[in-house]
Amino acid sequence: MQFTAGTYDVIVIGAGHAGVEAALAAARLGCRTLLATLSMDNIALMPCNPSVGGPAKGHLVREVDALGGEMGVNADKTCIQFRMLNTGKGPAVHALRAQADKKLYQFTMKETCENTENLDVKQILITDLLLEDVPASEAAGGAENAPKKRACGVVVETGEVYLAPAIVMATGTYLKGRIIIGEHTYSGGPNGQRPAMKFSDSLAAAGIRLMRFKTGTPARVDARTLDYDKMQLQPGDDEARNFSFMSDITTREQVPCYLTYTNEATHKILRDNMDRAPMANGIIEGVGPRYCPSIETKILRFPDKDRHQLFLEPEGLHTNEVYVQGMSTSMPMDVQLAFLHTIPGLEHCHVMRAGYAIEYDCIDPTQLKPSLEFKAVRGFFSAGQANGTSGYEEAAAQGIIAGINAAQFIKGEAPVVLRRSDAYIGVLIDDLVTKGTHEPYRMMTSRAEYRLLLRQDNADMRLTPIGRRIGLVSDARWDRFLRKKAAIDDALKLLHETTLTPSAAQNAALEEAGIAPIHSATTAYDLLKRTEVTYDSLRTALPDLPALAKEVRDQVEIQSRYEGYIKKQQEQVAHMEKLEERRLPDNIDYSAVPSLRDEAREKLQNIRPESLGQASRISGVSPADVSVLMVWLEQQRRMGVAGK
Ligand SMILES: Cc1cc2nc3c(=O)[nH]c(=O)nc-3n(C[C@H](O)[C@H](O)[C@H](O)COP(=O)(O)OP(=O)(O)OC[C@H]3O[C@@H](n4cnc5c(N)ncnc54)[C@H](O)[C@@H]3O)c2cc1C
Repeated sequence: MQFTAGTYDVIVIGAGHAGVEAALAAARLGCRTLLATLSMDNIALMPCNPSVGGPAKGHLVREVDALGGEMGVNADKTCIQFRMLNTGKGPAVHALRAQADKKLYQFTMKETCENTENLDVKQILITDLLLEDVPASEAAGGAENAPKKRACGVVVETGEVYLAPAIVMATGTYLKGRIIIGEHTYSGGPNGQRPAMKFSDSLAAAGIRLMRFKTGTPARVDARTLDYDKMQLQPGDDEARNFSFMSDITTREQVPCYLTYTNEATHKILRDNMDRAPMANGIIEGVGPRYCPSIETKILRFPDKDRHQLFLEPEGLHTNEVYVQGMSTSMPMDVQLAFLHTIPGLEHCHVMRAGYAIEYDCIDPTQLKPSLEFKAVRGFFSAGQANGTSGYEEAAAQGIIAGINAAQFIKGEAPVVLRRSDAYIGVLIDDLVTKGTHEPYRMMTSRAEYRLLLRQDNADMRLTPIGRRIGLVSDARWDRFLRKKAAIDDALKLLHETTLTPSAAQNAALEEAGIAPIHSATTAYDLLKRTEVTYDSLRTALPDLPALAKEVRDQVEIQSRYEGYIKKQQEQVAHMEKLEERRLPDNIDYSAVPSLRDEAREKLQNIRPESLGQASRISGVSPADVSVLMVWLEQQRRMGVAGK
């Protein structure tokens, strides 16, 4: 029997990395919020690698933090090794990566959720989405593609009905979850949890298109049975690192990882048993991640490679479980044990948890607006793995935007949509809703055309003002941001105003500081453009320059050294902005636009882009089609029919 058990402003289905960010954002923005999860003990569970960040993913963590999200703060409190990657390359690809103590990460996030005002957390299994007709008075003038339905609540397997006008689905890898280990398969969620078997049917009944994806994870082995002498130590950085712009943690107990490799013996066992590999013999139907392949896929995809690197990553300070990164598999157990024992250092390892693959339902994200609201169902949002992505960071990035926009929806405010030039979050969501994805989508720096502007070090400069405008950035974070910004502006101003003349004394001071002499008057700012010059070496030559905090010094050095490249990218952004600002009315009948190519007409009718810029990124819509659309829009405007 169903009964109404409660009414909220926002209901978030799922307390994974997407759901917790969505729920915390909505609650912190003043909405009465319900966070539902299948297991209170698995809030913010890391079912796969015990790490946060890395290339592009570290950028997402910083961006979530800059907006007022939780992942960065939580990682700084609970991670047990930090490394800045790609420091040998330019700042655009510098990326922080940290090893997490999984249980500490989970329970710290659980504690934060349980102590957030306006937020209730419940262990419930949601089976159905409740929809109602959009009242005629709100039906957007009856436009043919205006949503006819709106979200109004959810049903729990035990009969409770919770009502709310805004619902965020963040169901991850649980919808019709199916676990595969060789020939052995069963319905299940990650880490031995229950799957959610019914909710997919409710989505399908609402006309939402589903996809079947798959991901996999490696075995966990017992640290006591590993021979680390046969591996290479991978220590953390000595320098203190933090994800959050709010963290000042300077000392941590760090634990190392270890590097080892597969070899020909490993590869032979895998080749000899490829007929029993579920991803090769058809047991697995779901589409897996190209950039996170299983070991059996690597053997098939790179047959000439004589070894693959494996990182042994501790899962926490209070466990012997070790994650074998790079060895994701769904091979039968006898094969898993055999190939693990061929690896240097793992010859006698005990497996604590088997490697497995999981198949699950997710939605086709082209059904979403850039706000992550479904085009066809008002007040219904989606975030995370449920949108076809893979990764904790990708999930958190979508979660905070979905939570913010659910709150904006409740308040009747315009949604927050980050552009590709604002953030990796903008690139991620635009790629999903404009191009869609046919496999689990993973963020990479190569996906961002403006990556020199979207560095991890300036995420706060790009996004904290947006978080403040909507009310998610706290006073403490705002004050800190303003102080940092002022320090950067003051330092840059002083460098611009500090002129050096090529006197003997000046050049002697420069040489003393290891800086080549100058031959004409120059500013300290221009001197800092030289790659061999740092702010600190400049201060040695110019002692009047003030000492700067590291985060300010980094900004000053990057902005002076990369000024030319940054300016060039800003010009590219300005050029694209013209197209982004050309809004497309959402009631265009593309079949009525003459001389559009059929493929473009079909894609535009399906995706219904919000701007000419978004239209130009739809695969199958050519620049010629965009020009046709521009001319047609102009004609409509002149005839006073559509678009300004
Ligand atoms: C086996 C495995 C291997 C993975 N491998 C990788 C990898 O190699 N690289 C990578 O980047 N990522 C990997 N991931 C993905 C990574 O775990 C996810 O990207 C991330 O956890 C997604 O976060 P999310 O919040 O979208 O969903 P999840 O973390 O999956 O959380 C979903 C939440 O929804 C809840 N839920 C679902 N349905 C219902 C319902 N009907 N009612 C109530 N609650 C519900 C669950 O309880 C859970 O709290 C892997 C995941 C798994 C399971």
